[in-house]
Amino acid sequence: MDSATKVANDLLQKGKEALESAGNMKRECKLEAHDSLQGLYETVLALADSRSRHKYNLERERSRHAQEIVRAERAHSKELVVMRQSLTAELSLARADIAGTLKEAKDIRAWLGYETVEPFGEIKEMMRTMRALESKVQQEAIQSETGNASAVPQWETMEASLFKLDSHVTDVSNQLDALRRTVDGIKECSVGPATAPVTSPSHCIFPDALDESKLEGDIESLRRLLVEILDRPSYSPPSPPPPLDLTEHLRPLSDRLELVSSDLRVLRDKEPQVSALPAPSLEVELAMADVKLTLQSIKEGMSDLYTADRTLQGPSSYAQMAAKPRPPQLPNHTLIISSTDPKHTGDNVIERVRLALDLKNTGAKVDRVRKARNQKIVLSCASRDDLKLVRTQVRSCEGLSMQEPKSGNPLVCIRGVLSGYSNEEVIDMLKAQNKHLLQEVDVAKATIRVRYRKRARNPLECHPVVELSPKIWECLTRVGKVHMGIRRCPIDDQSPLVQCTRCLGYGHTKAICRAEVDICCFCGGEHTSRVCPVKEAAGPPTCSNCVKARRESYLAHTAFSEECPERQKWDSIARSRISYCC
Ligand SMILES: [Zn+2]
Ligand SMILES: [Zn+2]
Ligand SMILES: [Zn+2]
Repeated sequence: MDSATKVANDLLQKGKEALESAGNMKRECKLEAHDSLQGLYETVLALADSRSRHKYNLERERSRHAQEIVRAERAHSKELVVMRQSLTAELSLARADIAGTLKEAKDIRAWLGYETVEPFGEIKEMMRTMRALESKVQQEAIQSETGNASAVPQWETMEASLFKLDSHVTDVSNQLDALRRTVDGIKECSVGPATAPVTSPSHCIFPDALDESKLEGDIESLRRLLVEILDRPSYSPPSPPPPLDLTEHLRPLSDRLELVSSDLRVLRDKEPQVSALPAPSLEVELAMADVKLTLQSIKEGMSDLYTADRTLQGPSSYAQMAAKPRPPQLPNHTLIISSTDPKHTGDNVIERVRLALDLKNTGAKVDRVRKARNQKIVLSCASRDDLKLVRTQVRSCEGLSMQEPKSGNPLVCIRGVLSGYSNEEVIDMLKAQNKHLLQEVDVAKATIRVRYRKRARNPLECHPVVELSPKIWECLTRVGKVHMGIRRCPIDDQSPLVQCTRCLGYGHTKAICRAEVDICCFCGGEHTSRVCPVKEAAGPPTCSNCVKARRESYLAHTAFSEECPERQKWDSIARSRISYCC
């Protein structure tokens, strides 16, 4: 029983006692008051009961909540532990990855250093030779200015012959004048006694004015002179630059010739009036035809002289340079040697190699030794046998380790193979149908692998690109054709350089290109070459790679052109990793 009901009970008892003790009250009133008191007490009891029930419910709820909280906490803590564990694992993985990447980057840096040492050396050498050439040219220019150049007399004779040519042309034009006068005379004759038959030829009427044999002789000598000028061998060496502008000297001559030819035209216009006289006009016509022919040859000779002069003066264009055959690829007979002692420098290693190689007895021919990064040295030999000798001696020497540079196999492209054949069939046919070409090769040990197929215009054909051992590559590219199924297909060397067909960059394909737009191989615009407006308008191509590389001197080629100097640069870099000789 709680305190509230106890108080109520006491109050009830007190009230009851008070009612009992009050004797002067009406009996009904006393009963009424007694009932009310009893009712009040019962209400208090009911209230206390409901309150305790409510309290109990509240307690129960609270304990339930507490249990819930404990359960939830337990579950979450398990998840948290798992999460923390996975995070730690991921972190350690990432750390390992970063370490690997760092190591790779270091390796690449070292490799780049090793690869670029030789080109740098070559560039330096080239610069030295260029400087030497420049100073030589300057010296020669100074010499020629001081007047003791040997070329002067030669040019004097040239001038003399040109002068002679000039006088001869004057002669011809004088004779043409005479010819014109003669023709005029003939015309007058025909206008006067028109009915009189004129049977004698013109040179009989005017024997002094028109001496045909003299004219012919002059023309012949002119022709000889021109031939002589053109054939003169001393004309060809362009350096030192002669202080004489040939075109300047030839211009008056050509003007004179122009005059002569216009005279001839006038003569020809007059011809119909003379046609009434058959015999003399025939003679005149023959003479004129001869003169015309000679003039033509003189003109041709002049233009030849002019172009010869031009080509000697101007520097040869890139296209002319590119047309020259490329130097043959040098084989790679190299070895990378390093010391097992990390304290040794490159010079130490070179010294040790020098002592280790008994070159006096073996006679091995070493072309050069150069230092590379990380205390490594690169040794190049003249041939494979020399390399073998060096290798055995280095191997027997303690404290030196060696590795051979990795090199790839060369590629060929077989054109117009029927696309129905599988790669295996292509290889089998190449081996089986071309045994006569591969007699020197051990085909069983050699590498023959189809790398990929190029699409052909004809959908029934393709151009497989095949990787071959150097010896097979040499045998097949030398012949240039192979039997492939029911065809004889051309086979050519294929550059190992990969060029992207989207961004036109080198070293990756369209499949992994990061560029977002296609670059036009014709004009470099942001569209495919199929819809190129410049190409449509037959405009000149512009190579976007050469534009990027700032090769302003030669841009008029497509980005896939073999003439592209940028492509040639990357092609030779790609080829330097390939061994073309076994
Ligand atoms: Zn690309
Ligand atoms: Zn375009
Ligand atoms: Zn280019």
